[in-house]
Amino acid sequence: MLMLDFHPTGRHFLQIPGPSPVPDRILRAMSLPTIDHRGPEFAVLGLKVLADMRKIFQTSQPVIIYPASGTGAWEAALVNTLSAGDPVLMYETGHFAALWQKLAARLGLKTEVIGTPGAQAWRHGVQASLIEERLKLDTQHSIKAVCVVHNETSTGVTSNIAAVRRAMDAARHPALLLVDTISGLASADYRHDEWGVDVSISGSQKGLMLPPGISFNVPSAKAIEASKKATLPKAFWAWDEIIEMNKAGYWPSTPNTNLLYALSESCDMLLEHGLQAVFARHQRWGEGVRAAVKAWGLQIQCADASLYSPVLTGVMTPEGVDADAVRKIIYQRFDCSLGTGLGKVKGRMFRIGHLGDCNDLTLMAALSGCEMGLKLSGVKLAGSGVLAAMDHFSSHAAVVPERRAA
Ligand SMILES: *Cc1c(COP(=O)(O)O)cnc(C)c1O
Repeated sequence: MLMLDFHPTGRHFLQIPGPSPVPDRILRAMSLPTIDHRGPEFAVLGLKVLADMRKIFQTSQPVIIYPASGTGAWEAALVNTLSAGDPVLMYETGHFAALWQKLAARLGLKTEVIGTPGAQAWRHGVQASLIEERLKLDTQHSIKAVCVVHNETSTGVTSNIAAVRRAMDAARHPALLLVDTISGLASADYRHDEWGVDVSISGSQKGLMLPPGISFNVPSAKAIEASKKATLPKAFWAWDEIIEMNKAGYWPSTPNTNLLYALSESCDMLLEHGLQAVFARHQRWGEGVRAAVKAWGLQIQCADASLYSPVLTGVMTPEGVDADAVRKIIYQRFDCSLGTGLGKVKGRMFRIGHLGDCNDLTLMAALSGCEMGLKLSGVKLAGSGVLAAMDHFSSHAAVVPERRAA
């Protein structure tokens, strides 16, 4: 079996912020035989996952599922709602926001980027007041969409989407609100309807705990109206045919059958646990990991404590220490993969994922790997992050106990 033979004993610690560790229950569900995607059984699966995903997005709108990675769903959101040359306002919170801007520009949209200036740029969330100010200046309403990232996976900073909607309403501006929650969904609270989002975008391999390969759009009624007039070329990504066929549980082209088994299992797991309990569990893991980083005496990439991501934590390495060299030691010595710094923070920080199929002890193992790797890299630590995280986890019980006493 290819390179997989090189895996040492035990489980690899996949602590990157996506793809996240996939629970055995989901891997088993995926191993069911592939069925006829035009047959009667399939519609049961199709209708179930579409209904379940509405609960996950907290919406009554249609959910569109693509056999594509998150990048495809980014493109789908833009080509369905916009026309060539349309001005769009994009907020740069980090590397993923920057990639989305690049994609929008390649599609022929006129992108305008705003964000927190200077050295603090990739350490904060969306400042809704900047969006409000910019939209107020656009008295002709030429800006057609505002694009923001809910959980910026490159930095570990979340953004307040409800505040962005309030800012747009305060400016009395009709632009559509497009939100990337590719890594936020199913780990951080996300409310498509309540927050007045026009297109939500997500993917399978982050909070949903699936392998990569499917992604999502959720359009508001206003976005569906816009899609009827938008003229960017769209065929495969077009919502109309998909929404129509989804009514009976089918898709116009071949859906990713085995990933839909996985999605069904993932939704069962998330909804059985309860979304609020899922959000609380990732919050708590994030707190434990941050306790470790603080004990080490290192800086967290997110500079705003109210916006710490429940999905991942960005750890800044001290001046002169290459974060990728630290990651490499941790990988080679302890079989643990951590997220690299992306874009302009490459080499300056690494990322610890606390999404997907984790528990207190898998996170303790990952933090041990980090602590050993930092020491082996010659980083002077203020104290033991492992001890701090153990203290945190043992003194803060999980909201929903995972296991009852016998
Ligand atoms: C992972 C991710 C993407 C990219 O999705 P792909 O599945 O890699 O195409 C986009 N935005 C955010 C916030 C992400 O975390």
